[in-house]
Amino acid sequence: MDMNLEAITAQERDEMHRNVFFITLEQLKSWARSNSLWPVQFGLACCAIEMMGVGASHYDLDRFGSIFRSSPRHSDCMIVSGTVTKKMAPIIRRLYDQMPEPKWVIAMGSCATAGGPYFYSYSVVKGVDQVVPVDVYIPGCPPNPAALIYGINKLQEKIRYEAKTGKRVTNT
Ligand code: SF4
Repeated sequence: MDMNLEAITAQERDEMHRNVFFITLEQLKSWARSNSLWPVQFGLACCAIEMMGVGASHYDLDRFGSIFRSSPRHSDCMIVSGTVTKKMAPIIRRLYDQMPEPKWVIAMGSCATAGGPYFYSYSVVKGVDQVVPVDVYIPGCPPNPAALIYGINKLQEKIRYEAKTGKRVTNT
């Protein structure tokens, strides 16, 4: 088809600017990934109650494309919420290893980030980052559902930033 570019009106040019954009494949994939995080459920103690709250209608985590999964093989994100005991640590690692790449981990609450009130207990791991690599830490005892949503939003930003810059960001 013969197209006379001179004949394009200013209005048509504006329309094209609004509707045509260029993006790398990596950025497109990271946009899709960051808006469809599927966390594997890993509630270990009281923080888990707050984690369950984000799935209910008031906080409605689904609006960010995040839906809790029961199988690590269906998940690309692990939210560890609660006290990590030494007995539980190898199971967390085994389930993490079953998740397909790329994958991310959120440590929710003082216990998961650093042992919390049980820091001096002989049976508690002083942070889940001793077992799996953690991308986002959420402080609080417990953090409320809004804080978890904020942490998930931070992880989304991190995924998009990594795709844009090609740099892996550790420990937010
Ligand atoms: S951080 Fe506090 S609320 Fe969360 S699991 Fe530990 S003791 Fe419970």
